[in-house]
Amino acid sequence: MYSELRRKLVEKLAAEGYIRSPAVRRAFMRVPREEFVPARLRHLAYVDTPLPTLKGQTISAPHMCALMCELLSPLEGEKILEIGTGSGYHAALCAEVVAPGDLGDGTVVTVEIEESLARFAVENLRRSGYYGKVNPIVADGSVTLPLRRGFDKAFITAACPSEPHNVLEVVEDGGVVVAPVGTGYVQELVVYRLNKGIIIGERRGPVIFVPLRGAGVGGRYS
Ligand code: SAH
Repeated sequence: MYSELRRKLVEKLAAEGYIRSPAVRRAFMRVPREEFVPARLRHLAYVDTPLPTLKGQTISAPHMCALMCELLSPLEGEKILEIGTGSGYHAALCAEVVAPGDLGDGTVVTVEIEESLARFAVENLRRSGYYGKVNPIVADGSVTLPLRRGFDKAFITAACPSEPHNVLEVVEDGGVVVAPVGTGYVQELVVYRLNKGIIIGERRGPVIFVPLRGAGVGGRYS
C-alpha cells in the first residue's frame, strides 16, 4: 500500500519540478517516509505536508526535502552534514544518494539539539535500515561544532538567524551549504558556495522552517 502511495507522490513531485535528478528520484522511491512519522500519522506519510514529530517540531514536507536535496546535489561517496535531525527522514534521503543500496562509503552525520528527537530518529533509522549510513549526534548546531572539518556539503533544516558560519567552517573548499536564513515566520532558502576562501550566497526563494534554537541564537527563540 505505501509503495503505491510513495510512487504517486514521487510522480507528483517530479511533475511539479521538485524532483529533477535520477539520484534524488531513486532516493525518494526507496526511503519509507511512513517509518519516520509518528505511528498515529502513518496514513498521512505520503501527503505533501510537514507533520509533527515531538516537542513541537516537524518533519519537513516532501517537496521541501526534494528541493533542498536537488540544490545540495550530493554525490555518491560524499560526506554530508545535517543540522536538525528531527525524524531522520531528510538525512536518510541524502544517505540513499551518497551511499546507494549497499554501495559506496558516503555518510551523513546529523546533529540534533533535542535528545528525545535524536532517539526518535535512531529508532526510525534502525527500522528503515539507514542507521550507520546516517549517524545522529546530540549537540547544539548553532555554536562551534564538535566535528572536524571534512564535510563535502551540509544542510540545515531549522531557520538560521544569519549566515551559518559554524557550519561553513566544517565544510571543505568547493563545498555547498543549503540553509533557510532569516528571523521572521518566512525565511529565505540560501545556497552558499565555498570557493577558495570566498563564500558566495545565492537566494533561492521563500521557505518556512521552525527556528534554530541554542546558544548561538542569543536566546531569542528559547
Ligand atoms: N530534518 C528533519 C526536520 C527538522 S525540524 C526531518 O527530516 O525530519 C528541525 C529540527 O532542528 C528539530 O528537530 C529541532 O529540534 C532541531 N534543532 C533546532 N535547533 C537546533 C540546534 N541548534 N542544533 C541542532 N538541532 C536543532
